[in-house]
Amino acid sequence: MNDRYDAVVIGLGAMGSAAFFELAKRGARVLGIEQFDPGHDRGSSHGESRIIRLAYFEHPSYVPLVQEARHRWAEIQQRADETIFLDIGCVEIGFPGAPLIRRSLEAARQHSLHVDEMDARDIRMRFPAFDVPDDWTGHFQADGGLLIPELAIKTFVREAVRLGGTLMAGTKVRRIESGSKYPEIDLGAGRVSAERVIVTAGAWLTELVDIPLPLEISRQVVGWFEPQVAASFTPEALPVFLLATPDNAYYGFPNHRESGWKAASHLHGRSLQNADALRQDAAPDDEAQIRRMVSDYMPDGNGPLRKMQTCMYTNTPDGHFLIDRAAHDARIIVASACSGHGFKFAPVIGAILADMAEDKTPAFPIDGFSADMSRRLSPVQLF
Ligand SMILES: Cc1cc2nc3c(=O)[nH]c(=O)nc-3n(C[C@H](O)[C@H](O)[C@H](O)COP(=O)(O)OP(=O)(O)OC[C@H]3O[C@@H](n4cnc5c(N)ncnc54)[C@H](O)[C@@H]3O)c2cc1C
Repeated sequence: MNDRYDAVVIGLGAMGSAAFFELAKRGARVLGIEQFDPGHDRGSSHGESRIIRLAYFEHPSYVPLVQEARHRWAEIQQRADETIFLDIGCVEIGFPGAPLIRRSLEAARQHSLHVDEMDARDIRMRFPAFDVPDDWTGHFQADGGLLIPELAIKTFVREAVRLGGTLMAGTKVRRIESGSKYPEIDLGAGRVSAERVIVTAGAWLTELVDIPLPLEISRQVVGWFEPQVAASFTPEALPVFLLATPDNAYYGFPNHRESGWKAASHLHGRSLQNADALRQDAAPDDEAQIRRMVSDYMPDGNGPLRKMQTCMYTNTPDGHFLIDRAAHDARIIVASACSGHGFKFAPVIGAILADMAEDKTPAFPIDGFSADMSRRLSPVQLF
């Protein structure tokens, strides 16, 4: 096989499936290649839930991006058979002076986002799942909510194919060669070429493209728990949440699928040598780390463990994304290393990648996500 496409997207996880959809929607001749089945549980986009929030503590410049992403999630929701976006809001809570809280309020102010500020008493009354100390504070953003990643990815891919995109699942790209007139993609059992190649290979990125930034792959563990007071952990009673403790940052979700409510630590877990080293090996010490937060601050949720799962973050040194062209070949476009907070942006990053593949200036500035360290945003600060 030696077919030529306008664009080939390598890796149909969060970013790639959205780019595949966007290019197909724009009428491009596009091929999407995925080594497993779209919606699989071996990368960075599984686990039944992802947070979307708008008052962005990581940097205020993410706010216009996430606002656009939210519009686009509403569009993809209309194309989906099932609910992929639960509009249940997001609450952020933290110890006195927590940078996470201060910085998300700054982002909200800069972009005139509405948030309800709360003291500990308000938090405990409005969201009884939390039992936080009297001097803690927080805020609620009604625009936030919960995305279901596996369904979102499957919907992007299905819609891309419906719009004329070609899907090649269960195929691992071996190499990208840029010597000839068009970049060529070695599939082992054949080759394809394309005017533009979008590499959205997540934790596998550096197997395909040399990146000047040092990227770290970390093993992250999430746990689902049976609540002891079920009524406080329903999606009606508990929004998605971030909880900044003096030595960690946790996040979690209500019991939206009767599989238990879910919580995890956002601090980077154990480093992995490579993406294929991820195992479903969550252990009692992983559970203990999450339970410490649960018993200290969400005691009514401290029931039996339903299940645990491992997943991967791909981290840049500053906690921001990587969206750029490959240094050796500008026809190769890279988006990855979303440092544990990228899922919510998938539809807008998909559109940015489609703009880049069409050699248009992206509708949003991406300089801060450059592979050149000197142009990147100031580092994310949690403490
Ligand atoms: C536990 C956990 C919780 C998170 N919580 C949130 C959250 O609440 N909100 C949020 O916004 N973000 C969150 N994130 C981050 C977010 O999920 C990730 O940033 C995002 O999913 C990364 O998407 P990706 O497309 O870069 O990678 P992936 O979705 O992993 O996609 C990469 C794809 O490329 C494929 N691939 C790789 N190499 C090849 C190859 N050679 N050939 C073919 N295919 C290939 C892989 O199989 C994979 O499907 C969380 C992440 C984790 C792990």
